[in-house]
Amino acid sequence: MAFEGLADRLQSTIQKIRGKGKVSEADVKEMMREVRLALLEADVNFKVVKDFVKKVSERAVGQEVLKSLTPGQQIIKIVNEELTALMGGEQSKIAVSNRPPTVIMMVGLQGAGKTTTTGKLANLLRKKYNRKPLLVAGDIYRPAAIKQLETLGKQLDMPVFSLGDQVSPVEIARQAIAKAKEDHHDYVLIDTAGRLHVDEALMNELKDIKELTKPDEIFLVVDAMTGQDAVNVAQSFNEQLGISGVVLTKLDGDTRGGAALSIRAVTEKPIKFVGLGEKMDALEPFHPERMASRILGMGDVLTLIEKAQSNIDEEKAKELEQKMRTATFTLDDFLDQLGQVKKLGPLDELLKMMPGANKIKGLNNIQIDEKQIAHVEAIIRSMTKEEKLRPELMNSSRKRRIAKGSGRTVAEVNRLLKQFEDMKKMMKQMTGMQQKAKKKGGFK
Ligand code: GDP
Repeated sequence: MAFEGLADRLQSTIQKIRGKGKVSEADVKEMMREVRLALLEADVNFKVVKDFVKKVSERAVGQEVLKSLTPGQQIIKIVNEELTALMGGEQSKIAVSNRPPTVIMMVGLQGAGKTTTTGKLANLLRKKYNRKPLLVAGDIYRPAAIKQLETLGKQLDMPVFSLGDQVSPVEIARQAIAKAKEDHHDYVLIDTAGRLHVDEALMNELKDIKELTKPDEIFLVVDAMTGQDAVNVAQSFNEQLGISGVVLTKLDGDTRGGAALSIRAVTEKPIKFVGLGEKMDALEPFHPERMASRILGMGDVLTLIEKAQSNIDEEKAKELEQKMRTATFTLDDFLDQLGQVKKLGPLDELLKMMPGANKIKGLNNIQIDEKQIAHVEAIIRSMTKEEKLRPELMNSSRKRRIAKGSGRTVAEVNRLLKQFEDMKKMMKQMTGMQQKAKKKGGFK
């Protein structure tokens, strides 16, 4: 899968800073050094990396961040926002002409996936946006290209406009648009000639088609597997022809991801779609924010942090954290915590936004029973004050009384007590580990 190396490295870097109560400027520096290496290793353009690291560092060492209750989380939020911005921020939509048909020129080097993408895009336009596209076979030099598009057209049950390979591409485009108007097509997708390299003859031909058709979009199709070459190709097509967006193909392969992260910053043109396979339905609109979250392995942590910020009582959270550290966490605190978590919204939605949740297989099928939480609350509420402070007092007659009082079974009471004990043990271990790490001079 694409981005694997980058995702792994960034996630392990982030792991070190997440949840830290205190973060120093030196911690940020260390973290950013790792982020920088991770990006360079993922084949991200070096200048892009430099700017990115500078931006994140400046924001991260800001007073409000380091002094906040959750500095680690705040820094992750900043990395996420800057990654999203790097890839263009908002999703970039496809143009719609107010004088149909909307004309889209598909350009790119041979083998990038231009013809395949033309078919996929037509399919997406019809399926998702309810449009009626006309495919145009304008690549008259590669012998198999016309046939390939015609085959795709048949497969999709969509018309393909072709005049063979003896008519100039400009003339083909002209006649295709006339035909589209006649047959009420609202989109015209022109597959143009590819070459092995960017050359003048190719550019001149593309410029002629551009001149005549006045396209609403010029999509450059590039192969993500080619890394920085894809970025260079995008830059020269943009300088010589002017493109409106990029389609990044083969993101289903094991590309390191450098192209996806550099193209926008280098060309200032957005990635509009990504190709995720050879099949006709393997094209998706590109969402920078989702891609950033995916790279950071955090589901939608941004929303989660924002929710937490607006719902959680900071003082209470501080107090709770202190109790966890000193292992004086009681069943009452547990109850409190459940209340706070509940305020954040439906639990299964919340779980999907959790960091690392994407790695848990089958998570989408999980149904969290909110009733379970209500049961736990009922059980704790049926305990006396003393029992809540000292669960070790619990004997079978007390357990029977609590079960009866809460309308649950003794087995459930036992399960809860066991879970609470396990949780306390874990907290103790974590506190121990943190102290050890401190002694070693690692992350505080
Ligand atoms: P063109 O020369 O640019 O028109 O390239 P083609 O459309 O003929 O595609 C070249 C090869 O790349 C074909 O084998 C396609 O099936 C394959 N291809 C295109 N897009 C993708 C993609 O998103 N993922 C994968 N895995 N293969 C793709």
